[in-house]
This record gives sequence, C-alpha cells and structure tokens, in this order.
Amino acid sequence: MPLITDSSQWQSDEVPAIQPIGWALVLDKEASQVLQVSANVPDFLALSVDQALLAGVESLLGRGLVKRIRSGLQGRPRLASALKASLRVEGKTQRFQVMAYRTGDSIIVEFEPLPRVGGRRLLSEVNHCLLRLAAADQPNQLLDELVASMQSLTGYARVLVYQFADDWHGQVVAEASNGDMPSIKGYRFPAEDIPELARARYWRHPLRTIHDEAAPAIPLVSHVPMLTPVDLSLGNLRALAPSHRRYMRGLGVRASLSLGVLGEQVLWGLVSCHNPQPLYLSPAVRDAARALVQMATQRMFLLQARAESRYLQRVIDSRQLISLEHGGLVEPAQLLRKHGPEWLELFRAEGCALVLQQQALRLGQLPSQAALLQLTHWLEKSHPQESIWSTRSLGVEGPQGLECCPGYSGLLAVKVPLSRQPGWLLLFRAERIDRQRWAGPQALLPVQDAVADIQPLSDGPFVAWQIEVREHSLRWLPIEQQAAKDLAEDLAVSVSVQKVEQLMAQLQSANQQLETLAHTDPLTKIWNRYRIEQAIDAEISAGDRYGRAFSLLLFDIDNFKAVNDTHGHELGDQVLATMAKAVMAALRSSDLFGRWGGEEFIVLAVETGADEAGLLAERLRVAVADTAFPPLSQVTISVGAARWQPGETRKQLIARADQAMYQAKQAGRNQTVLASND
Ligand code: GH3
Ligand code: MG
Ligand code: MG
Repeated sequence: MPLITDSSQWQSDEVPAIQPIGWALVLDKEASQVLQVSANVPDFLALSVDQALLAGVESLLGRGLVKRIRSGLQGRPRLASALKASLRVEGKTQRFQVMAYRTGDSIIVEFEPLPRVGGRRLLSEVNHCLLRLAAADQPNQLLDELVASMQSLTGYARVLVYQFADDWHGQVVAEASNGDMPSIKGYRFPAEDIPELARARYWRHPLRTIHDEAAPAIPLVSHVPMLTPVDLSLGNLRALAPSHRRYMRGLGVRASLSLGVLGEQVLWGLVSCHNPQPLYLSPAVRDAARALVQMATQRMFLLQARAESRYLQRVIDSRQLISLEHGGLVEPAQLLRKHGPEWLELFRAEGCALVLQQQALRLGQLPSQAALLQLTHWLEKSHPQESIWSTRSLGVEGPQGLECCPGYSGLLAVKVPLSRQPGWLLLFRAERIDRQRWAGPQALLPVQDAVADIQPLSDGPFVAWQIEVREHSLRWLPIEQQAAKDLAEDLAVSVSVQKVEQLMAQLQSANQQLETLAHTDPLTKIWNRYRIEQAIDAEISAGDRYGRAFSLLLFDIDNFKAVNDTHGHELGDQVLATMAKAVMAALRSSDLFGRWGGEEFIVLAVETGADEAGLLAERLRVAVADTAFPPLSQVTISVGAARWQPGETRKQLIARADQAMYQAKQAGRNQTVLASND
C-alpha cells in the first residue's frame, strides 16, 4: 500500500513531522484505531511502518497504556502529565515517556525513550537551583541565577533571557555561557525573528525543544489521506519549520530549548538555551527546566510587584503630604516648591511644571514660559479627550513647527481635572542617547536609522549592527503614568480646596462687612439703634438671670438744631462724628455705645450701679464739653442716667433715662441727672 504524507495539505511552512528523537502515532478520537505513524517507527519498535499502521492500538501499546491514555484525555485536550510506559521490543523492555493530546478529531501520542539517568542527582540539583532562585531579591539577580541554573542543569552552551518590548522586538537581558558560543547579552532582535504565530504557541505549550536543527524531519504517514492535517504544537516532538531553521542557523545554533515567560496576559519573554552542536535533552531534565522557569517566573513577577508597590508607596507618601496641607491655604506654587524636588526624583524627570489658568509654575530645567503655554494649548487642541499624554520623542510626536523644547525629548503631560479650566502637570525628561546593538538577518538592517559597525554575528548568517537613538528620553513606565495621574488628581483637589478656601475667606469678609453694616451707624461708626437695643436686651436677661447690675445713660446734644441752622447740616454731621469719637475715648472698655437716633445717644454701662453711672455720665459730659469743635466755641450734652431695676423692660428703662435727660435739659442743659427711684 502506498504511504501518504500530509505535507501537501499545509499552507504554512509547518510540516506535520517530528524530530527523530522519538516516534508518534495518530489515533482516532476514541483511541481505538491507528490513523498515522511516524515514519521512524522501525527505529524504535521491531515493526515496519505498514505493520504499525495495520496493528490494533491495544496490541501495539498494550491494553493498560491505552486505558490510561483514554482516561487521561477525558474532557482534556492534553494529558495533565506525561506517562511512563514500558513496551516490549524484540524481547526486551524499552521504557518511554508518553505524551498524548487531541487535535481535531484525532489523538496524537508521542513516545520518547527514557534514558536511565540518576533521578536522585537531578532532584538534588533542581532543589539546589530552586534555593538559589528563592534567595534572589532583585529581578535582575533572579534572572542571572536562572540562566546560571539552567546552564548547569541542561548543559546548553549558552542560556539567555530574552525580554519582549511593546513592539515585540526582543532584548537579551541575562545570559550564562560556558564559553563555546559568543555572548549576545544586551543585543536586540527584530520582532520578525519570532513571528506572532510562534509567540502564540507558548500560551498553549510553553516549551519547545529542538535537539538538532539539521536532523531530518520524520513525516507522519498513513495509507489514507487525513481529512484535517494534524497540529503537533501541543507536543514535544514537533519538527521545526524552515523559517525556524533559518532563524537558528542565523544565530549559529544547532540545538535549542525555549520556554515562555508568561505574564498574566502577555508573553513577557523567553528563556532560550542554545548549543552549537546537537544536544539531546532527556524528558526528565526538560521537565525540571520547565519547573525552574515556572518558579523563576512567579518569583520575578512577585519581585516586580514588590518593587512597584514600594514605588507606589513613595508616591502615596508624597500624595498624603499634599493632602495633609489641605487644612491650610497652600498656594500651588508653594506645593510645587515643597514637593516638586521629590516628584522630579520619583518620575526620573529633569523638569516639572504646573500650568494653571495660563500660568506656568516651574521647577527644574524647563522650556521657556511661552513654550510651556504653547504646549498645553497644543495638548488641549490635539488631544482634547485625553487626560494623559506621553512621548519619548517630543521632536517627532510633539507639536510640529514648534521649536519649543530643544534638549527635552520626553514629556508626560497629565490633566489636572479642575472644573472650570483644567490645568496640566508637565514632566520633562532630557534626551538620553541610546546606543543599541541589534542582530538579525541582513535584510532587516534598518534603512532610516544611522547604522554603524555592521559585523557578522557568530558563525551564522546573521549580522550585528549598532544604531544610535537620539532625541529620545527614557520610556515612561505604565506605573509612572498611573502615579502621575493620581498625583494630578490630588493636585486638583488641593488646588480646588485652595480655591474654595479663598472663596470662603472672601465670603467671610463680605459677611463681616454685611454684619458691620447691619450693626453700625455709618456716620459715627458706633453701634446703631438696632444693635444697642440687642445689647440692652442681652443685659436685661443677664440681669434677670444672675441679678447683674447695669445702668443706661441717654444723652442728647444741646441746641443742636442751632448748629445745623447756623453752620449747615454738613458741619452738624461732623460734630456728631467728633462727639462720638470723644465719648468713645472717654468710655471704659466694658461700656457699650450706640446712636439712639438723631443727636441722641445711649451708653450701656455693664456691671455698673447708680453712683458709678453718675460718675461716668459726668465724665462723658466733661469730655464732650472739653472737646474742640471748630468753628464752634463749645458743644455740650445733657445726660440722663438710670440704673436698671429688676423686672424692668427696655422701654421702661429708656423712658426713665429719657425722663432724667429731660430734667437735665430743663435744669439748663450741659448737666447730668440720675433717674428717680435710684
Ligand atoms: P435741645 O437742646 O432741646 O435738644 O435742642 P435741639 O436743637 O438739639 O433740639 P431738637 O430736637 O429740636 O433738634 C434736633 C436737631 O438735630 C434737629 C435735626 O435737624 C438735627 N439732627 C438730627 N439728626 C441729625 C443728623 O444726622 N445730622 C445733622 N446735621 N443734624 C441732625
Ligand atoms: Mg438736642
Ligand atoms: Mg434731640
């Protein structure tokens, strides 16, 4: 019967073939029938391909193994862990590691011979490595430990950690080598080197081993064409595609192991092991390597999270300091002066500006005042919806035709969300000239950047080159952007609080003015009738409650009408004002003084009995009489004094004082009369 390979059905450069280090079967979905076998079956079993294809599954694998495969794949695309099985080959027992997984309507079963290795030695080595990883407390140190451990565990000549950037180019950030291969630490590789399809596979199966890129690929063969081509990417044996082979040759790598470093949602990077010669990796060592990378990945993300939280804590501390100041009136300029230096450090920035209401408050090295304002206008126009905008290269991404910021390449601009007119917090980073070493196929040499120092990379056809990236700053990390946003929100609160407080202060003084107006006589600046009435009432109730004595003086300017008539109303006003001042000066601090109406005044003498009130009245009368009122020769007053009597109302009290004052008038004016009953 002719044998058919499936390769003709494949669109991509993937061939359903395996590496020759093991063999494979394709079964139907019930695992009851052999559909395909790898063409190298005779190398492992004492069977021809035809015999294997015609054999029943149970006679080929034994009933026990078939049962374990069936139950292991119940409701699962792949066995949770590999099985170990012994098959009898020409009377001898051969042990295999068995992996099975579903693809379409088929089941693939892969077999790798198990060498007799000292499992105990491996376990102790892995333990030792795990302890070293657990002791690392910095991400970089951890990665260095990881590559060193992987190198000694697996025996590859060079082990590296390759970290993906946002645009999927990768950079070698850690490397361990036995000296057989050149160092490529720090090198970057173009995104095209590891295409999206290849990257996506790490999510399904995070490990890929190529034992020898030059080894022949072993096709899967059958007697009948398969309806759907099988997908071997969940397994360990899949042969490499021509593009992958080109990549390995480009690097001068013959054997490789790569493991995905999987973040929560993103493929963070790869651990890549390279060897210039074929290298057979046993399943046990491969599993140990995988465990090591998984453990290191978890620890790395933990250490990163710790570093981030330490950073955030510093930001929070700085923010708390700002909010503590909400209690007092803090000018934004003062805030910037006080906290700006710390912000510069936190955000690794050279300059910081706070633009509020067309005014730029500045700290550190900054573009000109006019440039800052132009920049915020541009931000508001070109990114009206965005609350945050950042660039590493203002020259390229910033406002065109605006020679605003020579020497400044990075800008992180965050809106300060104020209700009427938003402000901006601007953080500037200076240019950082970045000399980058790249490697890849010559065809990917960049045409635009200034490329220098082109050399072959190791023995393969890849070349290495250097570019100098100018007019770029350090990248703004997502955590820095978040922190700046939080800070801007706090600033908004702080600035609004400050505004509210300013308004409150204004309101308070307006209220005070109103109150003053309501209680003050505008001509004499002493209390008006309403206020002095309030004061009398308050004294009466205090007197009622505590029996406190007080007296009331009522006085009236003598012959005042004549002043007006002779010298005019204006002078009359002046006389009233001067007289009030003279009386005020003669009063004790506890006495209260108000204008009762016209040229009549009341003095409320608290805690004052009749005798004392009489003395006070006299003192006031003399004070007025002694005051000069040019051009008048003299101004006098007549005073009636009354001591409040328990139970007396305000009206009654004033009536008695008025009565006494009338008596003083009657008696010839410019004198004091004590009210009767006293
Ligand atoms: P007597 O000694 O009996 O009090 O004589 P008099 O002239 O002061 O008495 P009268 O009550 O007849 O006159 C009070 C005058 O005071 C009348 C009014 O024109 C004047 N007067 C009242 N209020 C004001 C004021 O606010 N400004 C000025 N310039 N004059 C006032
Ligand atoms: Mg009068
Ligand atoms: Mg009068």
